Amino acid sequence: MKRAVFIDRDGTLAHEVGYVNHLSRFRLFPWAVDAVRLLNRGGLLAVVVTNQAGVARGYFPERLIGEVHAALNAAMAAGGARLDGIYYCPHHPSAGEPPYRQECGCRKPRPGLLHRAAEDLQIDLARSWVVGDREVDMELARSVGARAFLVKTGYGQGELLWHAASWPRPPDAVAEHLLEAVERILGEAEAEAGAAEPPA
Ligand SMILES: [Mg+2]
Ligand SMILES: [Zn+2]
Repeated sequence: MKRAVFIDRDGTLAHEVGYVNHLSRFRLFPWAVDAVRLLNRGGLLAVVVTNQAGVARGYFPERLIGEVHAALNAAMAAGGARLDGIYYCPHHPSAGEPPYRQECGCRKPRPGLLHRAAEDLQIDLARSWVVGDREVDMELARSVGARAFLVKTGYGQGELLWHAASWPRPPDAVAEHLLEAVERILGEAEAEAGAAEPPA
């Protein structure tokens, strides 16, 4: 069973710009490729999990998500990095028309995307992390017993300032951005691996 870092897309891996309704609006943070490459080298899976209710709302077709993720994968490959999976939810419980309008199990903070990834990639969710910029990402981590890592990019600063005090539980950790989060996660994973070794 492998350990993974689940990475929110908008606001965490890429700039939060509202709905990415055109490829030109998708802009990776400058440290995004470095962060994923570090995970690759550190032996942790890097998996993107994102809500894309703009599909259900009729703001853009589902195929645009495929185009955006192809560009994302290409940018990673160009920098010698690799995402192990990209999972998204195109649904909304009350907007648009079926099948996109539905009470699905995959809209964060529900854990459907994580369960799908865990099955595809043999991931131990309870020993994994979720990194994101919003409360839903923290709730997502809680729902599977993973560690919740908040970044200050995207909505993160505002979440911390206005809302985090009233969350049922604070995030397990807070970082300036994804790269810092990944560095600290790799440090934790290494320390745990060291601690697990029998004494010499
Ligand atoms: Mg986000
Ligand atoms: Zn869904």
